[in-house]
Amino acid sequence: MSPDPRVEICEVGPRDGLQSEPRIWSVDERVELIDRLSATGVPRIEAVSFVNPKRVPQMADAEDVMAKIKRPDGVSFAGLGLNARGAERAIDAGVDEVRYVVVASETFNQRNQGASIAETLAGFTEIADKVTQAGLKLSATIAASFGCPFEGKVEAVEVARIAKQLAAGGCVEIGLADTIGAGVPTQVTEIYGVVREAVGREIGLGFHLHNTRNTGFANAAMAVGEGVLFLDSSVGGLGGCPFAPNATGNIATEDLAFMLRNMGYETGIDIDAYIGIANWVESFFDAPLPGQIMKAGLFPETTAS
Ligand code: ZN
Repeated sequence: MSPDPRVEICEVGPRDGLQSEPRIWSVDERVELIDRLSATGVPRIEAVSFVNPKRVPQMADAEDVMAKIKRPDGVSFAGLGLNARGAERAIDAGVDEVRYVVVASETFNQRNQGASIAETLAGFTEIADKVTQAGLKLSATIAASFGCPFEGKVEAVEVARIAKQLAAGGCVEIGLADTIGAGVPTQVTEIYGVVREAVGREIGLGFHLHNTRNTGFANAAMAVGEGVLFLDSSVGGLGGCPFAPNATGNIATEDLAFMLRNMGYETGIDIDAYIGIANWVESFFDAPLPGQIMKAGLFPETTAS
């Protein structure tokens, strides 16, 4: 019997999630969050971002966070490095993976990165050698792959053009992000097909989905059907994007893990433990988190005799 197909969930709550919340978590709180998450069986965590703390104060002291967290076997820790300085900091701080970001629409890239897409892609080649020579995994997220809050629909061929350049520059994994939660399942199939065609079989592909318009889980179900390597999600559905208007909630990790498990996929995640963490995270905020399993709970999944 062949084992269940596996999907790698990458927990992005400590970075994408906390970055978009106005309340600034202390280093110790962030360390506790990451340590609790890394004990659940989740294989990947986007833990920190090496950006200018003046620009993103929620992500300050990334080195301290990396120095204090536990590093259990089998869990890979990623940090965002968006320029040469960020990549160097990430390498020195001991991350396993450096993630870069480029946005698929020109206006949004300008607002998010303060540069054109061409300049951002040129910046990728500057960090690529450093990261690869340090022996770390180099990956990238293509934000707003499904649509842009300023320019509207993004063409899949444009996403593929960017993906091809990233792959040529040494990127081994690419996350296709629905940053504003505008996508639908047929778009998942379209984008996956066009990007796969452009980058070949060697590049790992995944999706970063938001549930802003309630299509995030339908998109995730379609994505695993396409055979993606990984999916990003956040505990309790924490987060949005501080640079995109009205971009709420990543898909919630524990909801995703429940869906995938009962679809026959192996994620390795202890869902009960995750629910506990989601409720703990929620206690820091005034409003409820968007996760559903944390409210509904699991159910006795045996047949009554
Ligand atoms: Zn996100």
